[in-house]
Amino acid sequence: MQAAVLFGPSQPLIVEEVHLEAPRAGEVRVRVGATGLCHSDLHYLDGHRDGPYPMIMGHEGAGVVEAVGPGVEGVAEGDHVVLSFRPNCGRCAHCLRGESVICDGHRGPRQMMHDGTARASLRGEPLYVFTRLGTFAEHLVCPAEQAIPIRRDVPWEVAALIGCSVTTGVCAVTNAAGVRPGDTVAVIGCGGVGLNAVQGARLVSAGQIIAVDTLDSKLEYARSFGATHTVNASREDVVAAVRDLSGGGVDYAFEVIGLPVTIEQAVECIRPGGKAVVVGMTPLGAKVSVDAYPLVFQQKTLMGTSYGNAHPPRDIPRLADLYKAGRLDLDRLVSRRYPLSQINEGFAALKRGEVARGVVTFA
Ligand SMILES: [Zn+2]
Ligand SMILES: [Zn+2]
Repeated sequence: MQAAVLFGPSQPLIVEEVHLEAPRAGEVRVRVGATGLCHSDLHYLDGHRDGPYPMIMGHEGAGVVEAVGPGVEGVAEGDHVVLSFRPNCGRCAHCLRGESVICDGHRGPRQMMHDGTARASLRGEPLYVFTRLGTFAEHLVCPAEQAIPIRRDVPWEVAALIGCSVTTGVCAVTNAAGVRPGDTVAVIGCGGVGLNAVQGARLVSAGQIIAVDTLDSKLEYARSFGATHTVNASREDVVAAVRDLSGGGVDYAFEVIGLPVTIEQAVECIRPGGKAVVVGMTPLGAKVSVDAYPLVFQQKTLMGTSYGNAHPPRDIPRLADLYKAGRLDLDRLVSRRYPLSQINEGFAALKRGEVARGVVTFA
């Protein structure tokens, strides 16, 4: 089978003919239907994050289960599954609190199966797989807990996006922040995840949804996904504009870029008692500098969220249902499609900010 492999930092992906073993105990083998191109992969391609190598990249995907290993329950051959890039052991303290995104029940490396070995190999050498998935491949073997069954009438490319950007953006609003009807929201950064935060705010009937970006094209997009106001950060003072539009600061500001400067803006954009929610993936070691006095005397909250604080087995099927009910517009998020052989072109377009989401589809 074919897979896109990263051999080192700051290199293009190379599509290789790869060998894949059968699933072992607690694992499933999935034929990948589609996989999204996400900034989290780009961080590795750009060398901002490091190996191990060689590694099959890709963490946002969906497909059909074609085999299950011994002892697998809850997912069966023929099931359509969205792949979750986080483990969910069900036994650790975090899982027992319902915080499965920060599950720490598995001690092994995040690029191998739980028994510490690889299922994919290239010319006899084991291959690592990103987030125990490696979705940039025609097939993959992963821990069964990361394959979440959904209804069978969702197109693969939409299901793939539910694996990362949709869940991360929508659940940041619904789960992590808990936005309520009428609340005011700012979303700073309108890429794939940011547009889903905008949609999440619309889903819960937020009153004012202010989209912030430096590109007018993305702001137009944000408007079509539910933003009521837009601020172009290349021309306007973001903090002044958001405070002005919201009458003194929004209830919630979502930072969906992962940069210290925009995280600081998010804290400045919220009203006293408001919450600034960091969704964007920050560079390793990044530090933010916030004025501590207002945190105390204005009772502001600065918080982070990964994967929207989702509980994937619960939330992923719900998001698929909301899509089918017409409450989430996920079709228009897919702005370009590529065969696996053109995956590097897809990442170049993502880097240039040209796409809401590019998707690799498999025949
Ligand atoms: Zn992602
Ligand atoms: Zn756990």
